[in-house]
Formats: sequence, structure tokens, C-alpha cells
Amino acid sequence: MKSIKIIFCAVILLFININAQKSTYTILVSFDGFRWDYVNRGITPTLQKVIKEGVHALSLRPTFPSKTFPNHLSIVTGLHASHHGIISNSIYDPVYKEKYKLSNKDAVTEARWYQGEAFWETAERQGIKTASYFWPGSEVTLDYRRPSYYKEYEHDKKYEERIDGVIDWLKLPIEERPRFITLYFDLTDTYGHDFGPNSEETNWAISRLDSMANYLIEKINETSIKDSVNVIFVSDHGMTEVSEDRIINVKNLIKDYECRISDIGPFMTIEPKKNDIDKIYNIIKKKENHFKIYKKGEIPDYYFFNDHHLVSSLLLVADIGWSLTTRDNLGKYTTKGNHGYEKDHTDMHGIFIAKGPGFKNNYKTGTLWNIDIYSLLCKIYNIYPRTNIDGRLERIGFILK
Ligand SMILES: [Zn+2]
Repeated sequence: MKSIKIIFCAVILLFININAQKSTYTILVSFDGFRWDYVNRGITPTLQKVIKEGVHALSLRPTFPSKTFPNHLSIVTGLHASHHGIISNSIYDPVYKEKYKLSNKDAVTEARWYQGEAFWETAERQGIKTASYFWPGSEVTLDYRRPSYYKEYEHDKKYEERIDGVIDWLKLPIEERPRFITLYFDLTDTYGHDFGPNSEETNWAISRLDSMANYLIEKINETSIKDSVNVIFVSDHGMTEVSEDRIINVKNLIKDYECRISDIGPFMTIEPKKNDIDKIYNIIKKKENHFKIYKKGEIPDYYFFNDHHLVSSLLLVADIGWSLTTRDNLGKYTTKGNHGYEKDHTDMHGIFIAKGPGFKNNYKTGTLWNIDIYSLLCKIYNIYPRTNIDGRLERIGFILK
């Protein structure tokens, strides 16, 4: 009799589990460069409403470097940048003699750069259809590593059309309908760079994205599945003010040495062409002022940046608001705002705001870590996460009902 009861309970639990998978929809929305405190400016009525109905974290901590592609990949893989392989927005591979950079379509669609499993891969493998209306890494050329539905990135694609595309997916027949969808908007990043995080122009961008949040929620509310849809608003990093008055010309210090220098700005990587690592390190170390220099292998553990084979021999990280350059001005890198600094600077933190049937109501929590979102998504769908991830469900699972 007892064993019949156990079997009965197991069948019920299995049914609940399958049902949770089948009835749950989640839209993961990225507002690029939307700093954690932008929601405190009194210009985001939609997000305030979502906060009241759902979960609001004080901020979302990125991983190092606090750049766009590394952090979008961290959000969907649960891995630090040195573990998922997208260690910067531009990466040089000396073996293949190839460069990964955002403007190179062939590179960003080449699957071998992406060494972590994205949530859409985990979900599809376990029978959940997924879709992406833009997300770094979603357009790789290997079809088994992509969502069932995806769009090739078009920077000028109208924001309303992106949302309409997502809603069209939600209206597909149930067997074709994706249950997890990503959506991406760049505006706060673009304006934050061009005008600085404290400008009127950036406030306009914040308002514009808030109105897109409203448009998305209104459109979801017109569908028959409106009560089954979770919406999660995140950002990949924040933004801080930079200035021509706060630059460090690194090239000036090492002009006698041949090096490959990458990543001008908040951090810089240096690969000496000859065996000059120690010499160059010692020269720069003596001039350490408003920045820090580390040899690969000696980068403090909290950066999680020693492990990847494509990390250069020397890493320099500027103090917040300072820029590492190869000339006496910022040149073509001149901006009013930037990001990429050490991840514990709160200016580098983004947002985490979520609502829907899976989330607690009117629940506030402290800073969450973006590497934990992958585990959260797996929990929402009751599917098995990869085991070798950096994210931990214990740090985030409590925001779920
Ligand atoms: Zn970004």
C-alpha cells in the first residue's frame, strides 16, 4: 500500500513538473547600460509598477570586464567571462590568427568563441522551445547551439517592431510557441556613452526604454497567456562619467617595446611581442597611479580572469572614471561615459526587475549577481542546469514564489 502511495505521489509531482514546463513563459529583456539607479530618477513609471508587482534587486552585479558581450554571455551561461570565453568585446586568437570583434559578423557568429552553454541550449535539449530577438551569442552558425527562432542583429531595427515580433511568437500554435524569449535594446548604452550617465539626453533614453517596457507589457496583456508570462528586465552593466582630464597614456611608458595593446579605456591588455613581460610589468608598476597592473596568473581571484588561454600576459585596470590610452587624448575613443571597470564599483551595476507568476510580489532584495540568472531560469522551468557553472541558485532562488 505504501509503495502505491509513493508511486502516486511521484506521478503527481511529475505531472506538476511537466505542467510547470508547459505553462511557463519568460521574456528576458536587456536594457544595455541601464545603471541600477536610473530607476530612482522619477522617470520610469512602468518599471516602478513592475517593481510594485514583482521583484526588485538593489542592483545587478556584472562580471569583469563590465562590458556588453562578456556580460550578456554571463547572464545566459551562468559563467564568468574567463569561463565562457567572451573575455572582452574584442579578442585576438594568436593560434587561429583571428580576431573576435563586434563589427565582424563572421566572428560573432563563429561558435568556437562561445565556450559556455547558453540557457537556450540547455532548455532546447530538455524539450523547451526558445527564441531570441537579439542577444549576443544567439546567432552562431551551428543550428543546435541556437534558439529555435532567432533574428540576425539589426542595430536600427525599430524597437516597437522587435516587441511585435516577440508577441507574434507568443501567438504561435502551442506546439510551435517558444517558452523562453530574449529581447535587447541598446539605447541607454549609446546615450550613456555619448552624453554621460547624468545628462538630459540619457534621461530621455531612460524614459524611452521605460515606454518600451510599457508597450511590451500592454501587448502581453492582450494575449490569451498573459497570466503565464514572466518578464525579467536586466542590464549588462552600468555607466560612469569619464573625462579627458583623467587619462593615463600607457604607450608613453613603454614606447621602446613592441606590444599588442587591446581594450583602450577602463582596462587594457598588453601582450609583449618578445619575452619582455617582466621588464614591461616593472616599468609600468613603478608608475602605477590611478590604475593597477597585474601579470596573468596573479590577477586577484575576485576578477575571475586568470583562467582563459586568450587573456593577455598583462592586465591594467583603471580607477573608476579614469581611462587607459595609447595617446595623450582619448581620440576616437572620446566619450562622456564608459564602463568596463572592476565589477564591485556600484556605477558598473545594472538592474534586475522581474514580475510574473513565478516571482514573489512586491519583494525587494539586495544586489544580485548576473552569473546566477542562468540557475534561476533553470529553476523556473524545473530543468537540469549544467553542473560546471559559476552561478548558484542559493543566491537568487529565494525571489521565486
Ligand atoms: Zn552593454
